[in-house]
Amino acid sequence: MKINSDKCVACGNCTYVCPMGAIYIDPAIKRATVNATECVECYACYNGLSQEHLNPTMVRTMRKLFQWMRLRFDPEPDVCPTAAFEPDPLSWPRVVRRAFSDPRVPHESTGVEGRGTEEVKTNDISGRVKVGEVGFTIEFGRPAVGVWFRDIQKMCAELAKAGVSFEKKNPVTSLMSDVATGTIREDILNEKVLSAIVEIKVPVERTEEIIRLVWAVEKQIDTVVAIGVGTRCDEEGEDYVVGPILERLGYKLERAKTNIGLGRITNRNIERNLAEVAPK
Ligand code: SF4
Ligand code: SF4
Repeated sequence: MKINSDKCVACGNCTYVCPMGAIYIDPAIKRATVNATECVECYACYNGLSQEHLNPTMVRTMRKLFQWMRLRFDPEPDVCPTAAFEPDPLSWPRVVRRAFSDPRVPHESTGVEGRGTEEVKTNDISGRVKVGEVGFTIEFGRPAVGVWFRDIQKMCAELAKAGVSFEKKNPVTSLMSDVATGTIREDILNEKVLSAIVEIKVPVERTEEIIRLVWAVEKQIDTVVAIGVGTRCDEEGEDYVVGPILERLGYKLERAKTNIGLGRITNRNIERNLAEVAPK
Protein backbone atom coordinates (compact mmCIF):
# COMPACT_ATOMS: atom_id res chain seq x y z
CA MET A 1 0.00 0.00 0.00
CA LYS A 2 1.25 3.47 -0.82
CA ILE A 3 0.14 6.95 0.20
CA ASN A 4 0.49 9.66 -2.40
CA SER A 5 2.41 12.41 -0.58
CA ASP A 6 1.16 15.01 -3.06
CA LYS A 7 -2.38 14.26 -1.92
CA CYS A 8 -1.95 13.48 1.80
CA VAL A 9 -2.80 16.34 4.17
CA ALA A 10 -1.50 14.57 7.30
CA CYS A 11 -4.85 14.51 9.08
CA GLY A 12 -3.80 11.24 10.74
CA ASN A 13 -7.13 9.43 10.30
CA CYS A 14 -5.53 6.43 8.64
CA THR A 15 -3.04 5.85 11.45
CA TYR A 16 -5.92 4.60 13.63
CA VAL A 17 -7.31 2.05 11.16
CA CYS A 18 -4.11 0.15 10.37
CA PRO A 19 -4.14 -3.05 12.45
CA MET A 20 -0.36 -3.33 12.15
CA GLY A 21 0.40 0.24 13.17
CA ALA A 22 2.27 0.50 9.87
CA ILE A 23 1.10 4.04 9.03
CA TYR A 24 2.83 6.98 10.65
CA ILE A 25 3.09 10.69 10.04
CA ASP A 26 6.66 11.23 8.89
CA PRO A 27 7.80 14.41 10.64
CA ALA A 28 10.42 15.07 7.93
CA ILE A 29 7.89 15.37 5.11
CA LYS A 30 4.76 16.00 7.22
CA ARG A 31 2.83 13.33 5.35
CA ALA A 32 1.43 9.91 6.26
CA THR A 33 3.74 7.10 5.22
CA VAL A 34 3.40 3.32 5.11
CA ASN A 35 6.12 1.18 6.65
CA ALA A 36 6.34 -1.40 3.87
CA THR A 37 8.06 -3.97 6.08
CA GLU A 38 5.21 -4.03 8.58
CA CYS A 39 2.33 -3.54 6.12
CA VAL A 40 0.48 -6.84 5.53
CA GLU A 41 -1.53 -5.55 2.53
CA CYS A 42 -4.83 -6.03 4.35
CA TYR A 43 -6.35 -2.97 2.60
CA ALA A 44 -8.14 -1.92 5.81
CA CYS A 45 -6.93 1.64 5.18
CA TYR A 46 -7.98 1.71 1.54
CA ASN A 47 -11.33 -0.06 2.00
CA GLY A 48 -12.11 1.01 5.56
CA LEU A 49 -11.93 4.78 5.10
CA SER A 50 -14.34 6.65 2.90
CA GLN A 51 -12.45 8.46 0.17
CA GLU A 52 -13.30 12.08 -0.44
CA HIS A 53 -11.77 13.98 -3.29
CA LEU A 54 -11.10 17.38 -1.76
CA ASN A 55 -8.35 19.50 -3.22
CA PRO A 56 -5.20 18.84 -1.09
CA THR A 57 -3.90 22.41 -1.44
CA MET A 58 -7.24 23.80 -0.29
CA VAL A 59 -7.37 21.45 2.72
CA ARG A 60 -3.79 22.25 3.75
CA THR A 61 -4.48 25.99 3.47
CA MET A 62 -7.64 25.68 5.56
CA ARG A 63 -5.83 23.64 8.18
CA LYS A 64 -3.05 26.24 8.42
CA LEU A 65 -5.56 29.07 8.55
CA PHE A 66 -7.56 27.44 11.32
CA GLN A 67 -4.36 26.60 13.20
CA TRP A 68 -3.36 30.25 13.04
CA MET A 69 -6.72 31.11 14.64
CA ARG A 70 -6.07 28.43 17.29
CA LEU A 71 -8.86 26.30 15.84
CA ARG A 72 -8.73 22.89 14.20
CA PHE A 73 -10.03 21.75 10.87
CA ASP A 74 -10.18 17.95 10.82
CA PRO A 75 -12.07 15.70 8.42
CA GLU A 76 -14.56 13.17 9.82
CA PRO A 77 -12.57 10.39 11.49
CA ASP A 78 -13.62 7.70 8.98
CA VAL A 79 -12.55 9.63 5.92
CA CYS A 80 -9.42 10.15 3.88
CA PRO A 81 -10.28 13.64 2.64
CA THR A 82 -8.07 13.54 -0.43
CA ALA A 83 -8.23 9.87 -1.54
CA ALA A 84 -4.49 9.59 -1.02
CA PHE A 85 -4.24 5.79 -0.87
CA GLU A 86 -2.83 4.10 -3.93
CA PRO A 87 -2.59 0.29 -3.75
CA ASP A 88 0.57 -1.11 -5.31
CA PRO A 89 0.18 -3.94 -7.83
CA LEU A 90 1.37 -6.99 -5.90
CA SER A 91 3.55 -9.71 -7.31
CA TRP A 92 4.94 -12.90 -5.81
CA PRO A 93 5.90 -13.31 -3.00
CA ARG A 94 4.38 -10.12 -1.56
CA VAL A 95 0.94 -11.07 -2.83
CA VAL A 96 0.89 -13.79 -0.16
CA ARG A 97 0.51 -11.00 2.42
CA ARG A 98 -2.76 -9.94 0.90
CA ALA A 99 -4.10 -13.47 0.49
CA PHE A 100 -3.69 -14.07 4.22
CA SER A 101 -4.70 -10.59 5.39
CA ASP A 102 -7.60 -9.31 3.29
CA PRO A 103 -10.64 -11.60 3.62
CA ARG A 104 -12.19 -10.12 0.50
CA VAL A 105 -9.39 -10.91 -1.89
CA PRO A 106 -9.75 -13.59 -4.56
CA HIS A 107 -6.90 -16.04 -4.21
CA GLU A 108 -6.29 -17.28 -7.76
CA SER A 109 -3.04 -15.35 -7.90
CA THR A 110 -1.49 -17.32 -5.07
CA GLY A 111 -2.98 -20.72 -5.70
CA VAL A 112 -4.06 -20.80 -2.04
CA GLU A 113 -7.45 -20.13 -0.55
CA GLY A 114 -6.32 -17.39 1.78
CA ARG A 115 -6.09 -17.78 5.50
CA GLY A 116 -9.64 -19.07 5.58
CA THR A 117 -10.13 -22.74 6.22
CA GLU A 118 -13.09 -24.90 7.11
CA GLU A 119 -11.24 -26.32 10.13
CA VAL A 120 -13.57 -28.69 11.94
CA LYS A 121 -16.64 -26.53 11.31
CA THR A 122 -17.74 -28.82 8.51
CA ASN A 123 -16.53 -32.02 10.14
CA ASP A 124 -19.98 -33.60 9.83
CA ILE A 125 -19.53 -33.92 6.12
CA SER A 126 -15.78 -33.63 5.63
CA GLY A 127 -14.86 -36.21 8.23
CA ARG A 128 -11.51 -34.51 8.83
CA VAL A 129 -11.42 -35.49 12.50
CA LYS A 130 -12.49 -39.04 13.13
CA VAL A 131 -13.40 -40.90 16.29
CA GLY A 132 -10.29 -41.25 18.44
CA GLU A 133 -8.62 -38.22 16.88
CA VAL A 134 -8.14 -34.61 17.90
CA GLY A 135 -7.92 -31.81 15.37
CA PHE A 136 -5.87 -28.77 16.31
CA THR A 137 -5.95 -25.30 14.83
CA ILE A 138 -2.87 -23.32 15.75
CA GLU A 139 -3.55 -19.71 14.95
CA PHE A 140 -0.85 -17.05 14.77
CA GLY A 141 -1.03 -13.29 14.85
CA ARG A 142 -4.56 -12.49 15.91
CA PRO A 143 -5.65 -10.00 17.08
CA ALA A 144 -3.65 -7.22 15.45
CA VAL A 145 -0.15 -8.56 15.97
CA GLY A 146 0.58 -10.28 12.68
CA VAL A 147 3.05 -13.06 12.03
CA TRP A 148 6.08 -13.73 9.81
CA PHE A 149 6.16 -16.96 7.87
CA ARG A 150 9.64 -17.59 9.29
CA ASP A 151 7.99 -17.88 12.74
CA ILE A 152 5.20 -20.14 11.47
CA GLN A 153 7.99 -22.25 9.99
CA LYS A 154 9.51 -22.81 13.45
CA MET A 155 6.23 -24.21 14.76
CA CYS A 156 5.68 -26.38 11.67
CA ALA A 157 9.18 -27.83 11.86
CA GLU A 158 8.68 -28.89 15.49
CA LEU A 159 5.24 -30.32 14.74
CA ALA A 160 6.66 -32.27 11.81
CA LYS A 161 9.43 -33.66 14.04
CA ALA A 162 6.65 -34.88 16.35
CA GLY A 163 5.19 -36.75 13.37
CA VAL A 164 1.84 -34.97 13.14
CA SER A 165 -0.22 -34.95 9.97
CA PHE A 166 -0.82 -31.51 8.40
CA GLU A 167 -4.26 -30.86 6.89
CA LYS A 168 -3.82 -31.01 3.11
CA LYS A 169 -6.47 -28.39 2.26
CA ASN A 170 -5.01 -25.79 4.59
CA PRO A 171 -3.40 -22.72 2.95
CA VAL A 172 -0.22 -22.91 5.06
CA THR A 173 0.21 -26.58 4.14
CA SER A 174 -0.17 -25.66 0.48
CA LEU A 175 2.81 -23.31 0.86
CA MET A 176 5.10 -26.00 2.24
CA SER A 177 7.91 -27.21 0.01
CA ASP A 178 8.21 -30.35 2.14
CA VAL A 179 5.21 -31.39 4.23
CA ALA A 180 7.15 -34.24 5.86
CA THR A 181 9.52 -31.77 7.53
CA GLY A 182 7.04 -28.88 7.79
CA THR A 183 9.31 -26.76 5.59
CA ILE A 184 7.65 -23.65 4.18
CA ARG A 185 8.77 -22.26 0.79
CA GLU A 186 11.91 -20.23 1.31
CA ASP A 187 10.76 -17.32 -0.85
CA ILE A 188 7.89 -16.43 1.51
CA LEU A 189 9.65 -16.78 4.87
CA ASN A 190 10.18 -13.01 5.09
CA GLU A 191 6.55 -12.18 4.35
CA LYS A 192 4.35 -10.92 7.16
CA VAL A 193 0.60 -11.60 7.29
CA LEU A 194 -2.24 -10.52 9.54
CA SER A 195 -2.83 -14.08 10.72
CA ALA A 196 -2.51 -17.68 9.62
CA ILE A 197 -3.73 -21.04 10.82
CA VAL A 198 -1.89 -24.35 10.85
CA GLU A 199 -4.12 -27.41 11.07
CA ILE A 200 -3.04 -30.83 12.28
CA LYS A 201 -4.59 -33.89 13.77
CA VAL A 202 -3.29 -36.58 16.08
CA PRO A 203 -4.65 -39.51 18.06
CA VAL A 204 -6.44 -38.41 21.26
CA GLU A 205 -3.66 -39.83 23.44
CA ARG A 206 -1.26 -37.19 22.06
CA THR A 207 -3.41 -34.18 23.03
CA GLU A 208 -1.33 -33.12 26.01
CA GLU A 209 1.98 -33.71 24.23
CA ILE A 210 0.97 -31.47 21.31
CA ILE A 211 -0.33 -28.69 23.55
CA ARG A 212 2.93 -28.72 25.51
CA LEU A 213 4.89 -28.63 22.25
CA VAL A 214 2.92 -25.57 21.08
CA TRP A 215 3.51 -23.88 24.44
CA ALA A 216 7.26 -24.47 24.14
CA VAL A 217 7.60 -23.15 20.57
CA GLU A 218 5.29 -20.22 21.25
CA LYS A 219 7.85 -18.86 23.71
CA GLN A 220 10.44 -18.71 20.93
CA ILE A 221 8.41 -16.71 18.42
CA ASP A 222 7.35 -13.11 18.44
CA THR A 223 3.58 -13.29 18.02
CA VAL A 224 0.33 -14.41 19.63
CA VAL A 225 -0.54 -18.10 19.33
CA ALA A 226 -4.04 -19.48 19.99
CA ILE A 227 -4.90 -23.17 20.09
CA GLY A 228 -8.27 -24.53 18.96
CA VAL A 229 -9.18 -28.14 19.70
CA GLY A 230 -11.81 -30.12 17.82
CA THR A 231 -13.06 -33.55 18.72
CA ARG A 232 -16.03 -35.81 18.00
CA CYS A 233 -18.63 -36.09 20.73
CA ASP A 234 -20.17 -39.42 21.61
CA GLU A 235 -23.70 -40.38 20.57
CA GLU A 236 -25.09 -38.42 23.54
CA GLY A 237 -23.34 -35.29 22.32
CA GLU A 238 -20.80 -35.37 25.13
CA ASP A 239 -17.03 -35.46 25.28
CA TYR A 240 -15.50 -37.26 28.23
CA VAL A 241 -12.07 -37.80 26.72
CA VAL A 242 -10.49 -34.58 25.47
CA GLY A 243 -12.29 -32.17 27.82
CA PRO A 244 -10.71 -33.58 31.01
CA ILE A 245 -7.23 -33.39 29.43
CA LEU A 246 -7.73 -29.71 28.60
CA GLU A 247 -9.07 -28.95 32.08
CA ARG A 248 -6.08 -30.67 33.64
CA LEU A 249 -3.86 -28.37 31.56
CA GLY A 250 -5.63 -25.32 32.96
CA TYR A 251 -8.14 -24.49 30.25
CA LYS A 252 -11.64 -23.49 31.26
CA LEU A 253 -13.81 -25.15 28.66
CA GLU A 254 -16.21 -23.09 26.62
CA ARG A 255 -17.83 -25.06 23.84
CA ALA A 256 -17.91 -22.38 21.20
CA LYS A 257 -19.03 -24.30 18.14
CA THR A 258 -20.99 -27.52 18.06
CA ASN A 259 -21.96 -29.28 14.85
CA ILE A 260 -25.20 -31.09 15.54
CA GLY A 261 -24.90 -33.68 12.85
CA LEU A 262 -27.53 -32.56 10.34
CA GLY A 263 -25.05 -32.44 7.49
CA ARG A 264 -25.19 -35.05 4.75
CA ILE A 265 -22.05 -37.16 4.88
CA THR A 266 -20.27 -36.99 1.56
CA ASN A 267 -16.98 -38.44 2.71
CA ARG A 268 -16.96 -42.22 2.28
CA ASN A 269 -14.11 -42.62 4.76
CA ILE A 270 -16.12 -41.10 7.57
CA GLU A 271 -19.09 -43.30 6.74
CA ARG A 272 -16.85 -46.33 7.11
CA ASN A 273 -15.40 -44.88 10.30
CA LEU A 274 -18.85 -44.34 11.81
CA ALA A 275 -19.97 -47.82 10.81
CA GLU A 276 -17.00 -49.27 12.66
CA VAL A 277 -17.79 -47.49 15.94
CA ALA A 278 -21.59 -47.54 15.83
CA PRO A 279 -23.23 -49.69 18.52
CA LYS A 280 -24.26 -53.05 17.03
S1 SF4 B 1 -6.33 9.84 5.96
FE1 SF4 B 1 -5.52 10.44 3.94
S2 SF4 B 1 -4.99 12.59 4.13
FE2 SF4 B 1 -5.27 11.81 6.23
S3 SF4 B 1 -3.17 11.22 6.85
FE3 SF4 B 1 -4.11 9.40 5.97
S4 SF4 B 1 -3.53 9.43 3.81
FE4 SF4 B 1 -3.13 11.47 4.62
S1 SF4 C 1 -2.80 -2.23 3.86
FE1 SF4 C 1 -3.31 -2.80 6.00
S2 SF4 C 1 -1.32 -3.08 6.99
FE2 SF4 C 1 -0.94 -1.94 5.09
S3 SF4 C 1 -0.99 0.19 5.68
FE3 SF4 C 1 -3.07 -0.32 5.02
S4 SF4 C 1 -4.14 -0.93 6.90
FE4 SF4 C 1 -1.93 -0.96 7.35
